[in-house]
Amino acid sequence: METELSLVVPVYFEEEVIRRFIFETTQELELLGLSYEIVFIDDGSLDNTVPIIKEIAADDTRIKLIELSYNHGKQAALTAGITYASGEYLLYMDPDLQDPPKEIKRFLEEIHKGYDLVFGVRKEKKDTFVNRIFSKIFWSVLRKFTGLQIPKGLAVMRIFNRKFAQQFLKYKEQNRFIEGIFMHIGMHRSQIEIEQRERYAGKSKFNFKKKMELAFNAIFDFSELPLKLALRLGVLFILVGIATFLTIVVLKFTVVDFQSGWPSIIGALIISTGILLFFIGIAALYIGKVYKESKGRPLFSVLDVTNLKEKQ
Ligand code: UDP
Ligand code: MG
Repeated sequence: METELSLVVPVYFEEEVIRRFIFETTQELELLGLSYEIVFIDDGSLDNTVPIIKEIAADDTRIKLIELSYNHGKQAALTAGITYASGEYLLYMDPDLQDPPKEIKRFLEEIHKGYDLVFGVRKEKKDTFVNRIFSKIFWSVLRKFTGLQIPKGLAVMRIFNRKFAQQFLKYKEQNRFIEGIFMHIGMHRSQIEIEQRERYAGKSKFNFKKKMELAFNAIFDFSELPLKLALRLGVLFILVGIATFLTIVVLKFTVVDFQSGWPSIIGALIISTGILLFFIGIAALYIGKVYKESKGRPLFSVLDVTNLKEKQ
């Protein structure tokens, strides 16, 4: 029988939430009375996440597991999950139960109206003040730089159909900013408001540094604006330089006779060197990305699968 719905769930050090997650989601899925599978992607956890999933999977073949050979990051883990999931619809969610399983029903109802992708958006974000400010700035900068129409208050939970998943898998880039790719695919999309809860147990794996990394990645993957900025600033400096030079020449022959002044020269030199290095740095970041892409390495490496057929 064909699977109607696949839950795609990346896990990384989630031993404290797995049982609860499976309990709550299967309860919901049974109520809906459809054929389903839950595809977990272990992203290199070293705790009991894998043994727990395997133990449950031994009794229920609808619980599936892909073990990646080391920590690839959530973006690659999700890609692995989409590669293996076989459902007609795929629902992506985190295992920490921040997005409640009872919303699965509404996601299905919405996508059955004929959309290819339905996003969850949060009514209110249950997060610390600093985190909320940070994510506000992050998303607005991102919208500006990339021009992508990313909805406000985006939640992790979202559902999409096979056609959308197929298109997603055609994106082969190593630097993958998932939200950007989801928007870039286009197709018919809709969104529903969902409740948000606290993390059920365990800790968030995204600290400030990781979040900053993600933000910069996103900007550099979807925008050439930083390169254009370098060009514009360069032109501006040339113009200012010419104007300064002309002013000095005129002043020299009319009002004052310039003598000393090396502090100002040193100052100007240091500043312009700094600006040059800064933009060489930006160009280098893009070159680094090109280098990484050009190697064309596989996006993820699978150690083992449970209740699934090996691919590749
Ligand atoms: N995750 C992952 N690989 C990583 C880090 C996180 O697969 O390197 C998974 C993690 O198990 C969880 C999801 O990404 O399912 C989101 O992580 P978390 O809940 O810690 O982030 P937050 O909700 O606080 O942004
Ligand atoms: Mg979370």
